[in-house]
Amino acid sequence: MNLAHILARSARSFPERPALLVGERCMHTYAALAARSARLAGYLRHNLGLEPGARVAIFMGNTPEYMECLYGVLWAGLVVVPINAKLHPREAAWIIGNAEARLVCVSAELAGGLAPALTEGAAPVPLLVPGDGHYLRAVSALAIPVQDRAPDDLAWLFYTSGTTGQPKGVMLSHRNLQAMTACFFMDVDPVHADDAVVYAAPMSHGAGLYSFPYVLRGCRHVIPASGGFEPEELLHLSRRVGRLCLFAAPTMVRRLADRVRAEKADPSGFQTIIYGGGPMYADDIRAALDSMGPRFVQIYGQGESPMTITALSRSVLADRSEAAWAAWVGSVGVAQALVEVRIVDPEGQPLANDEVGEVVVRGDTVMAGYWRNPAATASALRDGWLWTGDLGSMDSHGFVTLRDRSKDVIISGGSNIYPREVEEALIAHPAVREVSVIGRRDAEWGESVVAFVVLEDGHGALGAEALDQHCLAHIARFKRPKEYRFVAALPKNNYGKVLKTELRALLRE
Ligand code: AMP
Repeated sequence: MNLAHILARSARSFPERPALLVGERCMHTYAALAARSARLAGYLRHNLGLEPGARVAIFMGNTPEYMECLYGVLWAGLVVVPINAKLHPREAAWIIGNAEARLVCVSAELAGGLAPALTEGAAPVPLLVPGDGHYLRAVSALAIPVQDRAPDDLAWLFYTSGTTGQPKGVMLSHRNLQAMTACFFMDVDPVHADDAVVYAAPMSHGAGLYSFPYVLRGCRHVIPASGGFEPEELLHLSRRVGRLCLFAAPTMVRRLADRVRAEKADPSGFQTIIYGGGPMYADDIRAALDSMGPRFVQIYGQGESPMTITALSRSVLADRSEAAWAAWVGSVGVAQALVEVRIVDPEGQPLANDEVGEVVVRGDTVMAGYWRNPAATASALRDGWLWTGDLGSMDSHGFVTLRDRSKDVIISGGSNIYPREVEEALIAHPAVREVSVIGRRDAEWGESVVAFVVLEDGHGALGAEALDQHCLAHIARFKRPKEYRFVAALPKNNYGKVLKTELRALLRE
């Protein structure tokens, strides 16, 4: 079954309900949103001739058109390739090329930068830009019914990065996303029709995936006028729109809770705040519970098992009378209903309670594999289990605590930054001989990027400013190091591999 049936069903059941709002202003009812998606789908299939299974990239910030493109592409039986709007045009172009996308839905302000980056590639890819005549024709085309898809057909090609630095396309099927949605109702939140989900985090990631349960229940979908996370704006929306639900990175939770505390604001307009995607320090969730009350649920997932490995429920977070509360509040909760989670040794043997090993997961949410990357697939999926690359332990009640990441991903302000990508950009500078990038704990951002740089002889005068300019030309702004440390040599092991643990120790000193 095609996942887009959820929108068709809601449009039939509650045609007049407001579906899409920008701030407080309603843009479309469910009937209108479904009609626009059906017409866009008709345009993609019949005017552009795209066959089911073809990939369509969406390179946009959070806008109302994001929703209609997302659902229009799925409705047409095509595959969504969401791309973080903060990526450098070259990075976006690489993904578009790798996915062999046949079309890119791109917002006007990103189209200018993307077009030249795309022409560097082989075949030109047409752009569909909301607001222009082409787009108006698309949403006025002849509507088509939701196109048939089998459960294992590809729905969503989600680009993540591995330690190799090369982005990998995670292949998610309609079944994967349906199982994720079912788990949401069972383990995250039952969702009420009066709820309003607000997209404060990028729709290209978890926030967009979590649109599905709210479409199913016929809720309001609110795009903040700012397009992102502004605590003051969210407080305003909580008062005016009410019953706000949002998916937020841990840093956003902290900033929102701090604002509520500072202003002594009434948090009752917030219904559910789901946090995850990176580590939440126990002190921070305690403080958030103190200032905003029992409105929080934590999820732990990864692109390869989207949003669905474990969940820490609202009731566990709220119940301070429980003897184990102090331990559980720092955990990521228990396995979600449709997946099995184990902690294993390097051979895949389950470990005893409280022993630290790699977290593995299996179930209907686990990806089919990486797009055209059998080697990476074989190392991530073994004997039916997804090896997450995360290290953790499980207690006797099934609560999982993540101890460390075996990957070196840096999570800053809720965005993943892969050190290798930053290293590759820096090493391309003629004055840089060697470089190693690590994350440092940062009170505001969770982690910040620090680069250790060894310069070529004769370039001793080169400063951080020149390297910063170089990064600006090659990678997304948010990935740039916040600090450069110029060193004579990098610590290495016998195989010549840089010892990042020693660099981390250096930072701690
Ligand atoms: P991504 O595939 O971009 O969603 O990144 C997934 C990774 O983020 C996981 O493998 C974890 O390392 C980390 N992560 C996700 N959720 C949590 C969480 N609730 N607590 C700690 N780390 C998390």
